[in-house]
Amino acid sequence: MKSFNVPVQYRSPLIQAIKQKRKQEDKLKKDYSPTLLQAGSISLLLARHFGFCYGVENAIEIAFHAVAENKGKRIYLLSEMIHNPGVNADLQAMGVQFIMDTYGQQLIPWDSISKEDIVIVPAFGTTIEMEALLRAKGIEPSRYETTCPFVEKVWNKAEKIGLEGYTVIVHGKPKHEETRATFSHSKAHTPTVVINDIQEAELLAKYIHKHLPAEQFYEDFKGQFSVGFDVAKDLSRIGVVNQTTMLASDTQAIADYLKQSILSYYNAAAEETHKYFADTRDTLCYATNDNQSAVQGMLEAEADLAIVIGGYNSSNTSHLVELCELKLPTYFIKDEHCLISDSEIRHFDLHSHSEKESLGYLPQKDPIKIMVTSGASCPDALVERVLERLLLLSNNKDAYQQILKVWLDN
Ligand code: SF4
Repeated sequence: MKSFNVPVQYRSPLIQAIKQKRKQEDKLKKDYSPTLLQAGSISLLLARHFGFCYGVENAIEIAFHAVAENKGKRIYLLSEMIHNPGVNADLQAMGVQFIMDTYGQQLIPWDSISKEDIVIVPAFGTTIEMEALLRAKGIEPSRYETTCPFVEKVWNKAEKIGLEGYTVIVHGKPKHEETRATFSHSKAHTPTVVINDIQEAELLAKYIHKHLPAEQFYEDFKGQFSVGFDVAKDLSRIGVVNQTTMLASDTQAIADYLKQSILSYYNAAAEETHKYFADTRDTLCYATNDNQSAVQGMLEAEADLAIVIGGYNSSNTSHLVELCELKLPTYFIKDEHCLISDSEIRHFDLHSHSEKESLGYLPQKDPIKIMVTSGASCPDALVERVLERLLLLSNNKDAYQQILKVWLDN
């Protein structure tokens, strides 16, 4: 896979050495067991795959390049480039401004943006409407476009099945930038509905089976269907694509459920499946699959707690948290400063959607076993700082030097 010029502040020689060694030993990526960093009274289990993915590195390279070659110009990002607060703050410190927030709310009026300005399209991609708006202003969106190719792959899949006459069901978070972009690209070709989860899939199935009055659909899925969607005819032939960062098991369950649902309504035999359901594989990206598989592999070991590092609005990171929470106490942190002391931690609670502080997260025992992973938009340097802080707080300060020696002298 292509390699990128990632700024030095995001790199970690330690993590790079670990990843390199694991890669050499497991070229086919079959081994999802974690890497054990053993030192002093602490055992750190580091997931086999984590951190910056192809799309994030590509976006960072393009954005930093755009800043370097446009000195003196106003530089904008349509919205957060990736869901990592540190990287976004670095871009803002270099003068880059965000036109919209992550939910599409306007932060800078369009009137103040002109064709002399530079506008960067984030890794999530953008809508066709937004591309048209930029072009109308004389700004070519593809000039500094960081849309991940794995997101474009989803758009291509939606277009393909749309042209084959299927209505596209997008499994994704309706307000997420990537899902909004995918919805826009899909509805250019075919009727499209966004569903958030299995509950919405079950609700949709009630309309496939005509168990609910058609008018109610437009209320139940308000803001999530394409203009002109005709519930009476547009749910008779469907296909599913996903936001690239959803939980693999959810995505599979939703596709299976909708497939069974439509086949049972039409009383269709297995060989007639294609008449009603586009039997495609999921459109999760490789990084989502690798990182989730690595967490599953890590969870086969025993540990006292898990630390998951990433931006709180990061979809892919939140699914790693959900997986860990099924097995052990899990703390979702954005950086090393969240490890306030050996007893107090600041972390994000996915259930209440709020940051909170908890006491007693590090057990008083020897050894302590901690699982660590991070999302696809989290720099390795940040993961290393978290590891270092964990060692410091657990009275294993010297162990960090030992770990560096073992891995960097290798
Ligand atoms: S998580 Fe996947 S789709 Fe998103 S930027 Fe990374 S590689 Fe691309």
